[in-house]
Amino acid sequence: MVGNQCLICDCFVAPALSVDRDVVCADVQCRRLHDQRLTMAPNLYAPYLAFQKSLIRERRSAAAANRAKVARIISDEDEEGRLALQEYVTASGRSKDIDLITLPSVPQHTVPLSEERRKKYIRHLETEMAEAVGCEDVSELPHDQHYTLIDRRITQDAFLAENPELARRSDAFCEICRGGCCMKGGDSAYVSAVMLRRQLDADPELTPESLLSAYIGSIPETAIDGGCINQGEAGCGLPRDMRSDVCNHFLCEPVRDYQAKSAETNAISDVFVVQRSNHQWNRFASESANALVACYLVDDVGYHEVSNAHETLIGEQDVSRREKG
Ligand code: SF4
Ligand code: SF4
Ligand SMILES: [Zn+2]
Repeated sequence: MVGNQCLICDCFVAPALSVDRDVVCADVQCRRLHDQRLTMAPNLYAPYLAFQKSLIRERRSAAAANRAKVARIISDEDEEGRLALQEYVTASGRSKDIDLITLPSVPQHTVPLSEERRKKYIRHLETEMAEAVGCEDVSELPHDQHYTLIDRRITQDAFLAENPELARRSDAFCEICRGGCCMKGGDSAYVSAVMLRRQLDADPELTPESLLSAYIGSIPETAIDGGCINQGEAGCGLPRDMRSDVCNHFLCEPVRDYQAKSAETNAISDVFVVQRSNHQWNRFASESANALVACYLVDDVGYHEVSNAHETLIGEQDVSRREKG
Protein backbone atom coordinates (compact mmCIF):
# COMPACT_ATOMS: atom_id res chain seq x y z
CA MET A 1 0.00 0.00 0.00
CA VAL A 2 1.19 3.52 -0.82
CA GLY A 3 -0.19 5.66 2.01
CA ASN A 4 -3.79 6.38 1.20
CA GLN A 5 -3.20 7.31 -2.42
CA CYS A 6 -4.63 5.40 -5.38
CA LEU A 7 -1.87 3.14 -6.70
CA ILE A 8 -2.96 3.90 -10.26
CA CYS A 9 -3.62 7.65 -10.41
CA ASP A 10 -2.11 8.83 -7.12
CA CYS A 11 -5.22 10.65 -5.91
CA PHE A 12 -6.11 10.55 -2.22
CA VAL A 13 -8.77 7.98 -1.36
CA ALA A 14 -10.85 6.96 1.65
CA PRO A 15 -9.48 3.81 3.38
CA ALA A 16 -12.85 2.10 2.84
CA LEU A 17 -12.19 1.96 -0.89
CA SER A 18 -9.20 -0.40 -0.58
CA VAL A 19 -9.42 -3.55 -2.72
CA ASP A 20 -7.59 -6.66 -1.43
CA ARG A 21 -5.34 -4.38 0.64
CA ASP A 22 -4.56 -2.32 -2.51
CA VAL A 23 -5.66 1.30 -2.46
CA VAL A 24 -7.61 2.03 -5.63
CA CYS A 25 -9.90 5.02 -6.10
CA ALA A 26 -13.47 4.72 -7.38
CA ASP A 27 -12.61 5.99 -10.86
CA VAL A 28 -13.74 3.50 -13.51
CA GLN A 29 -10.40 3.59 -15.38
CA CYS A 30 -8.41 2.88 -12.21
CA ARG A 31 -10.76 0.06 -11.19
CA ARG A 32 -10.66 -1.53 -14.65
CA LEU A 33 -6.88 -1.39 -14.84
CA HIS A 34 -6.55 -2.86 -11.37
CA ASP A 35 -9.02 -5.67 -12.21
CA GLN A 36 -6.95 -6.63 -15.26
CA ARG A 37 -4.29 -8.06 -12.88
CA LEU A 38 -6.69 -10.99 -12.37
CA THR A 39 -6.84 -11.95 -16.05
CA MET A 40 -3.36 -11.08 -17.36
CA ALA A 41 -0.12 -13.00 -16.85
CA PRO A 42 1.98 -11.16 -14.20
CA ASN A 43 4.95 -10.67 -16.55
CA LEU A 44 2.66 -8.99 -19.10
CA TYR A 45 0.58 -7.10 -16.56
CA ALA A 46 3.55 -5.31 -14.92
CA PRO A 47 4.72 -3.34 -18.01
CA TYR A 48 1.13 -2.86 -19.14
CA LEU A 49 0.24 -1.42 -15.71
CA ALA A 50 3.24 0.92 -15.76
CA PHE A 51 2.38 2.25 -19.22
CA GLN A 52 -1.36 2.69 -18.55
CA LYS A 53 -0.61 4.29 -15.16
CA SER A 54 1.58 6.91 -16.76
CA LEU A 55 -1.08 7.66 -19.39
CA ILE A 56 -3.78 8.05 -16.74
CA ARG A 57 -1.57 10.26 -14.59
CA GLU A 58 -0.65 12.47 -17.56
CA ARG A 59 -4.31 12.87 -18.51
CA ARG A 60 -5.35 13.65 -14.93
CA SER A 61 -2.59 16.18 -14.48
CA ALA A 62 -3.48 17.90 -17.80
CA ALA A 63 -7.15 18.00 -16.73
CA ALA A 64 -6.23 19.44 -13.31
CA ALA A 65 -4.02 22.09 -14.93
CA ASN A 66 -6.88 23.00 -17.26
CA ARG A 67 -9.36 23.27 -14.37
CA ALA A 68 -6.94 25.55 -12.53
CA LYS A 69 -6.49 27.69 -15.65
CA VAL A 70 -10.26 28.01 -16.17
CA ALA A 71 -10.76 28.99 -12.51
CA ARG A 72 -7.94 31.55 -12.77
CA ILE A 73 -9.36 33.14 -15.94
CA ILE A 74 -12.87 33.34 -14.44
CA SER A 75 -11.56 34.84 -11.22
CA ASP A 76 -9.26 37.39 -12.95
CA GLU A 77 -12.00 38.45 -15.36
CA ASP A 78 -14.56 38.72 -12.55
CA GLU A 79 -12.26 40.88 -10.49
CA GLU A 80 -11.41 43.19 -13.39
CA GLY A 81 -15.12 43.44 -14.26
CA ARG A 82 -16.07 44.31 -10.67
CA LEU A 83 -13.39 47.01 -10.58
CA ALA A 84 -14.60 48.50 -13.88
CA LEU A 85 -18.17 48.57 -12.53
CA GLN A 86 -17.00 50.13 -9.28
CA GLU A 87 -15.12 52.84 -11.19
CA TYR A 88 -18.19 53.49 -13.30
CA VAL A 89 -20.49 53.76 -10.28
CA THR A 90 -18.08 56.16 -8.55
CA ALA A 91 -17.62 58.32 -11.65
CA SER A 92 -21.27 58.42 -12.68
CA GLY A 93 -22.80 58.67 -9.23
CA ARG A 94 -25.48 56.13 -10.16
CA SER A 95 -27.07 54.74 -7.02
CA LYS A 96 -29.40 52.12 -8.56
CA ASP A 97 -28.35 48.49 -8.33
CA ILE A 98 -26.49 47.44 -11.46
CA ASP A 99 -25.88 43.83 -12.50
CA LEU A 100 -22.57 42.87 -14.04
CA ILE A 101 -22.32 40.54 -17.00
CA THR A 102 -19.46 39.54 -19.27
CA LEU A 103 -20.11 39.11 -22.97
CA PRO A 104 -18.00 37.78 -25.80
CA SER A 105 -17.33 39.62 -29.05
CA VAL A 106 -16.48 38.79 -32.63
CA PRO A 107 -13.28 39.69 -34.43
CA GLN A 108 -13.54 43.12 -36.09
CA HIS A 109 -11.80 41.77 -39.13
CA THR A 110 -13.98 40.95 -42.17
CA VAL A 111 -12.66 39.22 -45.26
CA PRO A 112 -14.02 38.83 -48.80
CA LEU A 113 -15.87 35.52 -48.99
CA SER A 114 -13.92 33.05 -51.09
CA GLU A 115 -15.51 31.27 -54.05
CA GLU A 116 -14.57 28.01 -52.35
CA ARG A 117 -16.67 28.84 -49.25
CA ARG A 118 -19.62 29.99 -51.37
CA LYS A 119 -19.54 26.77 -53.40
CA LYS A 120 -19.29 24.62 -50.28
CA TYR A 121 -22.28 26.36 -48.68
CA ILE A 122 -24.34 26.16 -51.89
CA ARG A 123 -23.57 22.41 -52.12
CA HIS A 124 -24.74 22.08 -48.51
CA LEU A 125 -27.96 24.00 -49.28
CA GLU A 126 -28.64 21.80 -52.34
CA THR A 127 -28.01 18.57 -50.41
CA GLU A 128 -30.33 19.62 -47.57
CA MET A 129 -32.98 20.77 -50.04
CA ALA A 130 -32.84 17.44 -51.90
CA GLU A 131 -33.40 15.67 -48.58
CA ALA A 132 -36.20 18.10 -47.66
CA VAL A 133 -38.19 17.51 -50.84
CA GLY A 134 -37.31 13.82 -51.09
CA CYS A 135 -39.52 12.75 -48.20
CA GLU A 136 -43.27 12.39 -47.90
CA ASP A 137 -43.43 14.26 -44.64
CA VAL A 138 -41.14 16.25 -42.34
CA SER A 139 -41.52 13.53 -39.70
CA GLU A 140 -39.42 11.21 -41.91
CA LEU A 141 -36.38 13.44 -41.46
CA PRO A 142 -33.86 12.72 -38.68
CA HIS A 143 -35.17 13.59 -35.22
CA ASP A 144 -32.04 15.46 -34.21
CA GLN A 145 -31.77 18.92 -32.61
CA HIS A 146 -32.92 20.55 -35.86
CA TYR A 147 -36.15 18.59 -35.54
CA THR A 148 -36.75 18.81 -31.81
CA LEU A 149 -35.72 22.37 -30.89
CA ILE A 150 -38.81 23.96 -32.40
CA ASP A 151 -40.99 23.62 -29.27
CA ARG A 152 -38.37 25.15 -27.01
CA ARG A 153 -37.77 27.96 -29.50
CA ILE A 154 -41.52 28.73 -29.67
CA THR A 155 -41.76 28.74 -25.86
CA GLN A 156 -38.78 31.07 -25.65
CA ASP A 157 -40.24 33.43 -28.28
CA ALA A 158 -43.56 33.51 -26.39
CA PHE A 159 -41.76 34.28 -23.12
CA LEU A 160 -39.88 37.19 -24.71
CA ALA A 161 -43.03 38.46 -26.45
CA GLU A 162 -44.69 38.62 -23.02
CA ASN A 163 -41.65 40.42 -21.59
CA PRO A 164 -40.79 43.11 -24.16
CA GLU A 165 -38.44 45.04 -21.88
CA LEU A 166 -36.46 41.90 -21.19
CA ALA A 167 -36.45 41.12 -24.93
CA ARG A 168 -35.10 44.61 -25.67
CA ARG A 169 -32.28 44.18 -23.20
CA SER A 170 -31.46 40.72 -24.51
CA ASP A 171 -31.35 42.18 -28.03
CA ALA A 172 -29.04 44.91 -26.78
CA PHE A 173 -26.64 42.25 -25.44
CA CYS A 174 -26.59 40.49 -28.81
CA GLU A 175 -26.12 43.75 -30.68
CA ILE A 176 -23.18 44.65 -28.48
CA CYS A 177 -21.71 41.18 -29.01
CA ARG A 178 -22.54 40.95 -32.75
CA GLY A 179 -22.73 37.17 -32.78
CA GLY A 180 -20.01 35.64 -30.62
CA CYS A 181 -22.00 32.41 -30.71
CA CYS A 182 -22.13 32.42 -34.53
CA MET A 183 -18.41 31.70 -34.80
CA LYS A 184 -19.08 27.99 -35.23
CA GLY A 185 -21.58 28.45 -38.08
CA GLY A 186 -18.91 27.67 -40.67
CA ASP A 187 -20.06 26.89 -44.20
CA SER A 188 -23.30 25.19 -43.23
CA ALA A 189 -24.83 27.92 -40.99
CA TYR A 190 -26.96 25.26 -39.25
CA VAL A 191 -29.21 25.07 -42.34
CA SER A 192 -30.94 21.69 -42.30
CA ALA A 193 -33.43 19.72 -44.38
CA VAL A 194 -35.95 19.99 -41.53
CA MET A 195 -36.04 23.79 -41.48
CA LEU A 196 -36.23 23.98 -45.29
CA ARG A 197 -39.10 21.50 -45.37
CA ARG A 198 -40.97 23.36 -42.65
CA GLN A 199 -40.67 26.62 -44.60
CA LEU A 200 -41.95 24.94 -47.77
CA ASP A 201 -44.85 23.31 -45.88
CA ALA A 202 -45.81 26.64 -44.27
CA ASP A 203 -46.07 28.49 -47.60
CA PRO A 204 -47.54 26.64 -50.59
CA GLU A 205 -46.46 29.50 -52.88
CA LEU A 206 -42.81 28.94 -52.01
CA THR A 207 -40.88 26.65 -54.38
CA PRO A 208 -37.63 24.83 -53.52
CA GLU A 209 -35.88 26.88 -56.23
CA SER A 210 -37.04 30.24 -54.88
CA LEU A 211 -36.15 29.27 -51.32
CA LEU A 212 -32.68 28.20 -52.41
CA SER A 213 -32.26 31.48 -54.30
CA ALA A 214 -33.26 33.41 -51.17
CA TYR A 215 -30.52 31.67 -49.17
CA ILE A 216 -27.93 32.14 -51.89
CA GLY A 217 -28.94 35.79 -52.31
CA SER A 218 -28.35 36.40 -48.59
CA ILE A 219 -24.69 35.36 -48.63
CA PRO A 220 -22.67 38.48 -47.80
CA GLU A 221 -19.72 39.55 -49.94
CA THR A 222 -17.52 39.96 -46.90
CA ALA A 223 -17.83 38.01 -43.68
CA ILE A 224 -16.32 37.95 -40.21
CA ASP A 225 -13.00 36.13 -40.44
CA GLY A 226 -13.42 32.56 -39.16
CA GLY A 227 -17.15 32.91 -38.48
CA CYS A 228 -20.40 31.74 -40.07
CA ILE A 229 -20.77 32.28 -43.79
CA ASN A 230 -23.83 34.48 -43.12
CA GLN A 231 -22.04 36.59 -40.51
CA GLY A 232 -21.42 39.90 -42.27
CA GLU A 233 -20.18 43.15 -40.82
CA ALA A 234 -23.70 44.11 -39.67
CA GLY A 235 -24.47 40.71 -38.14
CA CYS A 236 -26.42 37.79 -39.57
CA GLY A 237 -27.50 38.32 -43.18
CA LEU A 238 -30.48 35.95 -42.91
CA PRO A 239 -33.89 37.20 -41.82
CA ARG A 240 -34.92 35.58 -38.56
CA ASP A 241 -37.49 33.24 -40.15
CA MET A 242 -34.84 31.81 -42.47
CA ARG A 243 -32.47 30.99 -39.59
CA SER A 244 -32.45 27.57 -37.99
CA ASP A 245 -34.03 26.89 -34.62
CA VAL A 246 -30.48 26.18 -33.44
CA CYS A 247 -29.64 29.83 -34.23
CA ASN A 248 -32.91 31.31 -32.98
CA HIS A 249 -32.99 29.31 -29.75
CA PHE A 250 -29.37 29.64 -28.66
CA LEU A 251 -28.56 32.06 -25.86
CA CYS A 252 -25.19 32.18 -24.18
CA GLU A 253 -25.03 31.61 -20.44
CA PRO A 254 -24.82 35.29 -19.37
CA VAL A 255 -27.91 36.21 -21.39
CA ARG A 256 -29.83 33.10 -20.33
CA ASP A 257 -28.90 33.70 -16.67
CA TYR A 258 -30.02 37.33 -16.89
CA GLN A 259 -33.37 36.30 -18.36
CA ALA A 260 -33.84 33.60 -15.71
CA LYS A 261 -32.99 35.98 -12.87
CA SER A 262 -35.31 38.68 -14.22
CA ALA A 263 -38.15 36.17 -14.52
CA GLU A 264 -37.52 34.81 -11.04
CA THR A 265 -37.32 38.20 -9.32
CA ASN A 266 -39.88 39.84 -11.58
CA ALA A 267 -37.51 42.79 -11.89
CA ILE A 268 -35.42 44.08 -14.77
CA SER A 269 -32.16 45.55 -13.60
CA ASP A 270 -29.74 47.84 -15.38
CA VAL A 271 -26.68 45.98 -16.54
CA PHE A 272 -23.03 46.87 -16.77
CA VAL A 273 -21.63 44.82 -19.64
CA VAL A 274 -17.96 44.00 -19.79
CA GLN A 275 -17.14 42.85 -23.29
CA ARG A 276 -14.07 40.72 -23.82
CA SER A 277 -11.96 39.78 -26.80
CA ASN A 278 -12.95 36.08 -26.88
CA HIS A 279 -15.91 34.74 -28.82
CA GLN A 280 -18.41 32.30 -27.33
CA TRP A 281 -16.35 29.17 -27.97
CA ASN A 282 -12.75 30.12 -27.20
CA ARG A 283 -12.94 31.81 -23.80
CA PHE A 284 -10.44 29.40 -22.27
CA ALA A 285 -8.21 28.91 -25.30
CA SER A 286 -5.43 31.14 -23.99
CA GLU A 287 -3.59 30.96 -20.68
CA SER A 288 -4.78 34.24 -19.22
CA ALA A 289 -7.82 36.51 -18.94
CA ASN A 290 -9.23 37.73 -22.24
CA ALA A 291 -8.68 41.40 -22.95
CA LEU A 292 -11.38 43.83 -21.93
CA VAL A 293 -12.62 45.36 -25.20
CA ALA A 294 -15.30 47.79 -24.02
CA CYS A 295 -17.86 48.41 -21.30
CA TYR A 296 -21.51 49.28 -21.78
CA LEU A 297 -24.44 50.28 -19.64
CA VAL A 298 -27.74 48.71 -20.68
CA ASP A 299 -30.76 50.42 -19.16
CA ASP A 300 -34.29 51.47 -20.05
CA VAL A 301 -33.01 54.10 -22.48
CA GLY A 302 -30.90 51.79 -24.61
CA TYR A 303 -27.25 50.97 -24.33
CA HIS A 304 -24.30 53.24 -23.89
CA GLU A 305 -20.62 52.61 -24.30
CA VAL A 306 -18.96 53.56 -21.06
CA SER A 307 -15.53 55.07 -20.88
CA ASN A 308 -14.96 56.10 -17.28
CA ALA A 309 -17.63 58.76 -16.65
CA HIS A 310 -18.17 59.33 -20.37
CA GLU A 311 -21.09 57.56 -22.02
CA THR A 312 -21.91 57.42 -25.70
CA LEU A 313 -25.51 56.59 -26.51
CA ILE A 314 -25.52 53.86 -29.12
CA GLY A 315 -28.86 52.11 -29.03
CA GLU A 316 -32.30 53.52 -28.40
CA GLN A 317 -35.01 51.68 -26.55
CA ASP A 318 -37.11 51.18 -29.67
CA VAL A 319 -34.31 49.50 -31.57
CA SER A 320 -35.76 46.73 -33.74
CA ARG A 321 -35.11 43.10 -32.83
CA ARG A 322 -31.81 42.06 -34.36
CA GLU A 323 -30.63 38.92 -32.64
CA LYS A 324 -27.10 37.69 -33.24
CA GLY A 325 -25.77 41.12 -34.06
S1 SF4 B 1 -26.45 34.93 -27.43
FE1 SF4 B 1 -24.77 34.96 -28.93
S2 SF4 B 1 -24.91 36.99 -29.89
FE2 SF4 B 1 -26.10 37.06 -28.01
S3 SF4 B 1 -24.68 37.86 -26.47
FE3 SF4 B 1 -24.62 35.62 -26.35
S4 SF4 B 1 -22.92 35.01 -27.67
FE4 SF4 B 1 -23.45 37.11 -28.18
S1 SF4 C 1 -27.60 33.38 -36.64
FE1 SF4 C 1 -26.92 33.74 -38.76
S2 SF4 C 1 -24.75 34.21 -38.61
FE2 SF4 C 1 -25.35 33.23 -36.67
S3 SF4 C 1 -24.88 31.06 -36.99
FE3 SF4 C 1 -27.03 31.39 -37.54
S4 SF4 C 1 -27.00 31.74 -39.74
FE4 SF4 C 1 -24.92 32.02 -38.99
ZN1 LIG D 1 -7.28 6.26 -9.17
